Amino acid sequence: MRRKNIYLLLGSNLGDRPANLASAREAIRAAAGPILNTSAVYRTEAWGKTDQPEFLNQVVEVETDLDPEALLETLMDIERQMGRERSERWAPRTIDLDILYYGQDVVQTARLMLPHPGIPDRRFTLVPLAEIAPDFVHPQYGKTNQQLLRACYDLLTVREYY
Ligand code: ADP
Ligand code: MG
Repeated sequence: MRRKNIYLLLGSNLGDRPANLASAREAIRAAAGPILNTSAVYRTEAWGKTDQPEFLNQVVEVETDLDPEALLETLMDIERQMGRERSERWAPRTIDLDILYYGQDVVQTARLMLPHPGIPDRRFTLVPLAEIAPDFVHPQYGKTNQQLLRACYDLLTVREYY
């Protein structure tokens, strides 16, 4: 069954970052399903580990018939195909693909957390999310993305890239 209101965060801070985002969008379309909405591309200071190049981030809404586990597996395959090396946490990466929301589903396993637990703390996630889905309600907090953004304490600068 086709599901909507599935939001993914794309991130890249290594190599040709805009091209990496474009390749990821194409791979997502081919393997998961159509992209219904895309935010602008934003540039953000690296989060967590600050001595590395800034990130480009973008949120996309996809429509897919993959269940959450299969979607995660598909995104991790794309990361591997795009040459992402998993080294230390928060290290520079050609591409990072996270599932932010899968509709109103709540999943809490070691492999998969939905909604993504970082959403309320991260401007680089909330700014693009609030751009394309301002009124979407977080299933655990009962607040919209717009409300979460207004309440967010993160001070890292998020600017539109193009
Ligand atoms: P991060 O995205 O935090 O920088 P990674 O991309 O290396 O780190 O992901 C680490 C692990 O996070 C993955 O192996 C995956 O199983 C797990 N994970 C848990 N919830 C999610 C989610 N909602 N989206 C993507 N990965 C997730
Ligand atoms: Mg990730």
